[in-house]
Amino acid sequence: MIRKGDFVLLVGEDQKEFLVKVDYKEFSTHKGSVDLSRLVGKEYGICVETNKGVKYWVVRPVLADFLKRIKRLTQIIYPKDIGYIILKLGIGPGKKIIECGTGSGALTMAFAYYVRPFGRVYTYEVKEEFSKLAQDNLKRIGLDEWVTFRVSDAEKGFQEKEVDAVFIDVKYPERLIESVKKSLKIGASVGFLLPTTNQVSSLLKVIEKSGFVGAEVVEILLRRFKPNPERLRPDDMMIAHTGFLLFARKAKEDNQ
Ligand code: SAM
Repeated sequence: MIRKGDFVLLVGEDQKEFLVKVDYKEFSTHKGSVDLSRLVGKEYGICVETNKGVKYWVVRPVLADFLKRIKRLTQIIYPKDIGYIILKLGIGPGKKIIECGTGSGALTMAFAYYVRPFGRVYTYEVKEEFSKLAQDNLKRIGLDEWVTFRVSDAEKGFQEKEVDAVFIDVKYPERLIESVKKSLKIGASVGFLLPTTNQVSSLLKVIEKSGFVGAEVVEILLRRFKPNPERLRPDDMMIAHTGFLLFARKAKEDNQ
């Protein structure tokens, strides 16, 4: 049942979608306005009409809907990459994770969502302005409770030890390798997002010399289709490049 303060996704016949918080105000679309007070107490999936008679279906938003609309001041990690990162790092309830840098908080949002209710995300960001934005982004949807935002240069090291996974999305990841090693549990995974192949090559060399094993490099391509059953074909445009993902595991050094 829809309650006051819930987020709902309004899905139009023209595929346009709006993520809206249900309060007692009117929400204006390009095709008229919806009286949000009418939604309280109703079931998800109902259809409402704007004052101009245009239909919108009211559905329950998922994490991808929130990520799509995140306020950003930095480049962010996209849902297509986030899905694989979550699986590769074994993110789940109760896990303790380090992330660097926070940026706009897109990945932080996904980590926080999946470590609930017992886990915690420690996210490092050198620029206060970005950390504040990320905090606001998570607060808006109630996920900040599972995150410690640290405004700090990660090159000075991480405070947490024995963490279950680390993810690094900064310009010079090789400068953080020794800190990652000190904080990560033996056998646990580290992941990186790198925009260019040169950066992947440089990092691979450092990783191999630093006691990490099982390196994997992937690029994830997502091709959307126009959902027309009679003329099913890909969209004309796609996001062709976001970044390369590199994963590795911390080996036990003394082999005992
Ligand atoms: N993954 C983020 C997201 O999904 O929104 C985006 C991260 S953004 C591309 C990279 C961030 O790393 C920037 O905000 C930058 O200020 C931060 N950064 C770079 N070097 C850093 C360092 N040594 N310590 C902490 N943050 C750093």
